[in-house]
Amino acid sequence: MDKGRLIVLTGPSGVGKGTILRSLLEKHPEVHLSVSATTRQPRQGEKEGQDYYFVSRQQFEKMVAEGELLEWAEYAGNYYGTPRRAVEKQIEARRSVILELEVVGARTIKETFPDALRLFILPPSVKELEKRLRGRGKDSEAAIAKRLQRSLEEIAAKDEFDLAIVNENLETAIKEIETAIFSN
Ligand code: ADP
Ligand code: 5GP
Repeated sequence: MDKGRLIVLTGPSGVGKGTILRSLLEKHPEVHLSVSATTRQPRQGEKEGQDYYFVSRQQFEKMVAEGELLEWAEYAGNYYGTPRRAVEKQIEARRSVILELEVVGARTIKETFPDALRLFILPPSVKELEKRLRGRGKDSEAAIAKRLQRSLEEIAAKDEFDLAIVNENLETAIKEIETAIFSN
């Protein structure tokens, strides 16, 4: 791939976006994953600057006011946003950048970067999604309930995306995503 491109990966919490991305980035280290800012508390094992930049609401609001975010949204009681500068730098350097976003942020990117490739990851069923959220074992019951509620609205928006991929078998889903990203 010789041209920097923006790729947006969206799908309900617990569908496997993080798992897919870890594998994809291991195979394709030339692709840059944007690290978001969030006001959510770190989950066990999450690292500052690697998984997220963990900031206070006040810091986040300052980033918004100063135009430092390419997009942002509120999700399950917390703010999430994409730091603008790092993404612009990578695109200028002709590197492809992946943004992992919820649906509102994905819509903003469609407006500002109409050429971005937008992929939606679906669970095989909502029951399986709930199983994965619980199986991950890192969110409270209240956080799981908010995520499941939001997942129904998110799944209803799947047709807004360039491609919807079902993450039933992990390897198959990764292959489909690789094809979408690297074959054109
Ligand atoms: P997300 O980043 O979308 O919130 P995660 O990557 O954290 O989701 O995955 C949620 C849980 O589902 C994890 O425990 C992960 O191991 C599991 N998982 C991911 N993909 C699959 C799959 N294809 N089949 C079964 N479990 C999966
Ligand atoms: P989690 O708390 O599970 O890490 O993320 C919750 C949701 O926020 C997920 O759907 C994730 O894709 C989304 N998200 C993470 N970073 C950003 C961001 O920078 N902007 C937007 N709009 N959503 C994000």
